[in-house]
Amino acid sequence: MTIIDGKALSAELKAQMAAGMPQIIERYGRVPHLVVILVGENPASQTYVRNKAKGCETVGMKSTVITLPEDITEADLLQQIEALNADDSVDGILVQLPLPKHIREQKVIDTISYEKDVDGFHPMNVARLWQNKPCIVACTPKGIMEMLKAYGIVPNGKRAVVIGRSNIVGKPIAKLLLDANATVTIAHSRTEDLPSITREADILVAAIGKPKFVTADMVKDGAVIIDVGINRQEDGKLCGDVDYESVAPKASFITPVPGGVGPMTITMLLQNTIECFENRMTAR
Ligand code: NAP
Repeated sequence: MTIIDGKALSAELKAQMAAGMPQIIERYGRVPHLVVILVGENPASQTYVRNKAKGCETVGMKSTVITLPEDITEADLLQQIEALNADDSVDGILVQLPLPKHIREQKVIDTISYEKDVDGFHPMNVARLWQNKPCIVACTPKGIMEMLKAYGIVPNGKRAVVIGRSNIVGKPIAKLLLDANATVTIAHSRTEDLPSITREADILVAAIGKPKFVTADMVKDGAVIIDVGINRQEDGKLCGDVDYESVAPKASFITPVPGGVGPMTITMLLQNTIECFENRMTAR
């Protein structure tokens, strides 16, 4: 069994990005600039935003964090986004989710210019993904594919099962695995007899949000296990959607939590920011 070390792979990819920054400056005269908007004071969101800013710093990119009050109106938030869309010195815009209940998330996503949509959530990027056109790919699924590639795991011809059908993980990772010629099944909360389906998976992706949900009896011997879940346990420690202790001995490859998919997500955000930057610079 091989542990897929997302932390180490992230560090490697970030070092490559950092090494490429001088050429970027030479070619375009400045570094890419990511703006992250944080609404309210959700502690988990604060941590994510801090880590994203830290990631930018590590690779030598500029980042700005805009902190807005919990009770900001939707109209005011949209206006701020519009201003950033129009600001030529801003290459990527990310609004940290979740947002307070009175703000429509989809409206916010739709308002970010798709050219600065580093999360890859804008309908234009999603549509282009499903039409096999160049696009900004959502960070978590993109990071999963990078991990498979780095560990020589080839989805071609394999059975892949994705548990979860969210717009940010389940659906896009299913599409990317399909593009890599896996035969893909998407399971969800209404799936009947889930274990019989997951047991067929050569590659099993768990994106559910339920601690230790995937147990050893749900997994085929030698399967590749990708655990997307980030769940906080009662003792304060993080765990994934996979019961790592029981599943790891059966797996050929497995991602740990923490240190698996999570760090890759942030690293892909940095890559997406560079991609948005270069797309805009070369479109002139
Ligand atoms: P989500 O939007 O809540 O989606 C969860 C999915 O799991 C839904 O499709 C749901 O089915 C399905 N599900 C729930 N209970 C189930 C059950 N008993 N059996 C089968 N399927 C079930 O969550 P998400 O945003 O995709 O995130 C999933 C997890 O990944 C969370 O723990 C989140 O924190 C984590 N996450 C991690 C990263 C990272 O960087 N590592 C990034 C994003 C998310 P229905 O559609 O039928 O409700």
